[in-house]
Amino acid sequence: MEIRNHDLIILGSGLAGLRAAVEAANVSKGELDIAIISKTQLTRPHSVCAEGGTGCCLRPEEGDSLELHAWDTVKGSDFLADQDAVQIFVEAMPKEIYLQDQMGCPWSRREDGRINQRPFGGHSFPRAVFAADKTGFFEVHALYDTMQKYNNITRYDDVMATSLLVEDKQFRGLTCVDLARGTFITFNAKALILATGGACRIYGFTTYSYTVTGDGMAIAYRAGLPLKDMEFVQFHPTGLIPSGVLITEAARGEGGYLRNNKGERFMDKYAPKMKETAPRDIVSRSEMLEIEAGRGFKGPNGLDYIHLDLTHLGAEKINERLPLIREVSIKFADVDPIDKPIPIRPAAHYSMGGVHVDNDGACPDVQGIWAAGEVACVSIHGANRLGSNSTAECLVWGGITGNRAAKYAMKQKKLPEPLLEKAYYEEHRVMDAIFRRKNTENFYEIRSKLREVLDTHVGVFRTQEGLEKALSTIKELQKRFEYCGIKDKNRIYNTDLVSYLEMENMLQLAEVMTKGALDRKESRGGHARRDYPNRDDENWLKHTLAYYTPTGPRMEYSPVNISIWKPVERKY
Ligand SMILES: Cc1cc2nc3c(=O)[nH]c(=O)nc-3n(C[C@H](O)[C@H](O)[C@H](O)COP(=O)(O)OP(=O)(O)OC[C@H]3O[C@@H](n4cnc5c(N)ncnc54)[C@H](O)[C@@H]3O)c2cc1C
Repeated sequence: MEIRNHDLIILGSGLAGLRAAVEAANVSKGELDIAIISKTQLTRPHSVCAEGGTGCCLRPEEGDSLELHAWDTVKGSDFLADQDAVQIFVEAMPKEIYLQDQMGCPWSRREDGRINQRPFGGHSFPRAVFAADKTGFFEVHALYDTMQKYNNITRYDDVMATSLLVEDKQFRGLTCVDLARGTFITFNAKALILATGGACRIYGFTTYSYTVTGDGMAIAYRAGLPLKDMEFVQFHPTGLIPSGVLITEAARGEGGYLRNNKGERFMDKYAPKMKETAPRDIVSRSEMLEIEAGRGFKGPNGLDYIHLDLTHLGAEKINERLPLIREVSIKFADVDPIDKPIPIRPAAHYSMGGVHVDNDGACPDVQGIWAAGEVACVSIHGANRLGSNSTAECLVWGGITGNRAAKYAMKQKKLPEPLLEKAYYEEHRVMDAIFRRKNTENFYEIRSKLREVLDTHVGVFRTQEGLEKALSTIKELQKRFEYCGIKDKNRIYNTDLVSYLEMENMLQLAEVMTKGALDRKESRGGHARRDYPNRDDENWLKHTLAYYTPTGPRMEYSPVNISIWKPVERKY
C-alpha cells in the first residue's frame, strides 16, 4: 500500500472542489501542501454539464434585491431552507460572479456590455447569470485555469475514494484506488473537503452524468457522519425522451411553453402567475398530473411525455441563447426545436439532501472534515432547490470551505499518524476480497432493478404502499449484492470494480432516501405524498438526519432556522 501525505485534501474537482482549491491555495500563500483528487480526469466533473445559469442578485438599481433573492429561495424551498444560511448565500454571490468574470468566464453580455441575466423558475427577477447554455463548462474551466497558477496543489486524476479514516471523531485520512495504475493509496492529511457531487444516478431516468453515484455521501455515512434530508430529490420538468438528457430550464426562461396532447398551455391551471417558470416541484407534478389524466403522449418503455414548445421563439433566439439545446434535441431525439416541439418529462436531477454541515460547511460530528456543493446539505435548498442556485452554492461554499479548512490545516502542527490497521483492512476488502468473491449474482442486473424501483416508487409522487415495497426490495437487493463479485480480474482501469464500488454506495443511499420518504408523512417541495397531500409544519418543519447502523439508518431530526420569514402557503 502506498501512503501519500498532504496537509489538505480536496475530494472532487467539480465547481465546489475547484473553487475550494483556488481559495485554499490563495489563503495559505504556498504554506500548505494541497491535493485535489477526482475519480475522473480533473476537467471532467459533472459540473461541466450545468447549462442554464448561476443565480445572483446583480441589479438592485433595476428592482432586484438580496432580500428578494433570499425570499424566493426560502419560498422555493417550501420553508425547509435554513434562513441564516440563505442570507450568507445571497450576500456572497455577487462577489463570486465578478470573481468568475476576472478569472475569464465568458459571461453572456447585454448590448451595453454589462453581464446579462435570464429568468429562471421560481425567481421573481431575471437572476440567472449565464454563458450561453454552457455555463458550467465555462465556470469549471475558468477555475481550472486559475488553479494552474498555484504550485502547491498536487492533482490526482482517475483516483477513486473508497472510505474515510476517522477515529475519536477526528479526520485521519482517506483510502483510494488509483484506477490508472491499479494500486491502493492511503492519504494522510490534516483536513478534508468533500466535494463529490450528488447521487441521482441511483435513478434510471435522470439528467445526471454516469459518474454521479453519491460516493462521497456514502463514504461519509459509513464513517459515522449523518446525512440530512435525503428524501428530498428534485425532478427536473424537462428531461429529454428517451435518454433523460437535460433540456435546461433556460428554455422556459427564454419563453418556451409546455403543452399537452390537446395543444393547451396547461401551466395556466397550476401556476396562473408564473406558469412555465414556476418552481420545479410544481411544474413536474403538473406534468405528471397531465400525463396521468391521459393528456400526454405515448412514449417508449412507459416514458409517456408532454411537449416543450420553442417554435415561437424563432431560429435567431434559439441559435443565440440555446445552441446546446438545439444540438442535443437534434442528436438525441431527432427533433429540431426551431420547427417542432421537444418531447420531455420529469427526470431525477438534484439531491437536495447530503452530508450534514453547518453554515461554514464544517461537519459538526467529526473534526477536520468540510463538505461543499451537491454532496453537502447546508441547507439553502430545503425541500426544493430553485434552478441556478446550485452552481451558485458550489461557488459560495467552495470558497467558504476552502478558506476555513486551509486556516484549520495551517494551525495543526503535524500530520496525524496514519490509521494503518483500518487502511490495510480496506485495501484487503477492495483489492482482494471483492476480486475473490464467488460472483453468483450479477450486480448490473441489481443496478437495473434498483433504478426501476426508485423510478416507480420514489419518484415525483409517493405513497406509503409504494415506499414500503421499495424499501423491502432495496433490502432484498442488498442481500443479493452480498453474492456479487467482479468478472474482470484486471487491475488497470477496471470499470467493473468502479461499478461495483458505486453500486455498494447507491444501495446504501437508496435505503436512506426511501426510509426518509416513508417516515416523512407530509408533502413538501420535492417530496409529494399522495396519502399526505399537505405540508404539515406542526409535525414536519424539521430536517431529517440519518445515521449509519449495520441494520439500516437510524433517523433523528433537527430544527430549521426560520429567523426571518414564517412559513406561508406557496402560490405562484
Ligand atoms: C444536466 C445538468 C444541468 C445543470 N444545470 C445547472 C445550471 O444551469 N445551474 C445550476 O445552478 N445548477 C445546474 N445543475 C446542477 C449543478 O450542475 C450541480 O449541482 C453542480 O455542478 C454540482 O457540482 P459539485 O462540485 O458539487 O459536484 P460535481 O460537479 O458532480 O463534481 C464531483 C467531483 O467529485 C468527484 N468524485 C465523485 N466521487 C468520487 C470518488 N469516489 N472518488 C474521487 N472523486 C470522486 C468527481 O469525479 C467530480 O470531480 C445541473 C445539473 C445537471 C444534471
